[in-house]
Amino acid sequence: MEIKIIGDPVLRRKAKRVNFFDSALRTLIGEMVRKMYESAGVGLAAPQVGLSIALFVFDDQSGEGAKEVVNPEIVQTSSETLLGEEGCLSVPGIYADVERYRWIKATYYNRYGQLKEIELEGYPARIFQHEYDHLQGVLFIDRLPKETKAILKPKLLKLAKSSKGVTGSR
Ligand code: ZN
Repeated sequence: MEIKIIGDPVLRRKAKRVNFFDSALRTLIGEMVRKMYESAGVGLAAPQVGLSIALFVFDDQSGEGAKEVVNPEIVQTSSETLLGEEGCLSVPGIYADVERYRWIKATYYNRYGQLKEIELEGYPARIFQHEYDHLQGVLFIDRLPKETKAILKPKLLKLAKSSKGVTGSR
């Protein structure tokens, strides 16, 4: 399992819904959780490891450990937004303030195919929105003001260039 870096087309694809809640899915979730911790990330979406399916894992540091999220839908959001710094394992070395909804309500399925509803606020809501974006083919850099994007552009191009055709690299 290797982390895909910006420039890899899988990061730009809309992920397909998961239809089978089988042992293969549970194994995959376990591997993604391990990869997330190994990479010191707070979230990891399946497209980031080359799989275009609607699945991500995250750990909001609340002490509850890693959570898996399958086929999520954000069903309600606050009108209020917050700015906060984000980075991404697929966009290494780049950190920037991103505007996100302060509060969200979402539905998703767990590894057993049970439908869940969750309300998140602040940091956990931010992580959820960041990972949810990955399933739509959206990266946090897409949400930056265009002035910030312009400043980051040379760095991003360099990352994209080095990511292409280089397998086994981060
Ligand atoms: Zn990310």
